[in-house]
Amino acid sequence: MSAARRCAVVTGGARGIGEAITRNLLARGTDVVVADLDEAAIADFRPPADAAGRVTLVTADVAEEGDWHRVLDVARSAYGPVTVLVNNAAISPKRDGQRTPSSEMPLDEWNRVLAVNLTGAFLGAKLVHPGMKAAGWGRIVNISSQAARTGARVAGVHYGATKAALLGLTRTLAFEYGPDGITVNAVTPGRIMTPMAAAVADEVNQAMRAGIPVGRLGTPEDTAAVVGFLASDEAGFVNGATVDANGGSWMG
Ligand code: NAP
Repeated sequence: MSAARRCAVVTGGARGIGEAITRNLLARGTDVVVADLDEAAIADFRPPADAAGRVTLVTADVAEEGDWHRVLDVARSAYGPVTVLVNNAAISPKRDGQRTPSSEMPLDEWNRVLAVNLTGAFLGAKLVHPGMKAAGWGRIVNISSQAARTGARVAGVHYGATKAALLGLTRTLAFEYGPDGITVNAVTPGRIMTPMAAAVADEVNQAMRAGIPVGRLGTPEDTAAVVGFLASDEAGFVNGATVDANGGSWMG
């Protein structure tokens, strides 16, 4: 299958890391459907000049199965079968920039984070599988977090738990989907400057920077470059992997 004929769905792809992933895939010749809840980010998104007509943005909640069907219908009718899925959308609720202590965590907040960060990725992977299997080629990339490795230090217990669970989801699906020509991998970014990271005090981010051997915080493009590789033909023997992209701040 020619890369130019591929169609990707990127969740949360209108801003932050997701936007950089959208732009990376467009630059590689992949058509992209963005599924994002942020209507302002969708309205503000400006496609690169050479990608006109190759990106479609849809307002959707990844926790809703009906929204997934709508997104995949849009993708199929605009560009053909979805052969790349990037599960990037996630939430990390905070109160006044601080994580909610676990002992005070309301159950509805816990449930919402699980629904978006984990169930959303499961639904996407489940629903793209038949089309990828029919194509005999597919790439699924789950955006986890360094918090999956170290425990969440700034985010709450729901976030840390879902990001670790995504690694189990990734490995299990890699085993299950691999025979169909589909790879499933995870990326665990370190601190990346996006609106999500900006929700905490600047001193917190600067303290994190001090612990990063390359001496800087990450950019959305740092993560997108890894995703672009994992979504490519060249990455066909990488399956079930977790790629740490954190400037060296965690080594396990
Ligand atoms: P972000 O700036 O908050 O962007 C996330 C995007 O996803 C937003 O547009 C958001 O829309 C959307 N979204 C949220 N819930 C959604 C839902 N239910 N359905 C569809 N879209 C939804 O986040 P980011 O920093 O770019 O993070 C992207 C990914 O990288 C996440 O998986 C995050 O956990 C991971 N990550 C980030 C960092 C970091 O330091 N930034 C580090 C490690 C991992 P709304 O504005 O409406 O919420």
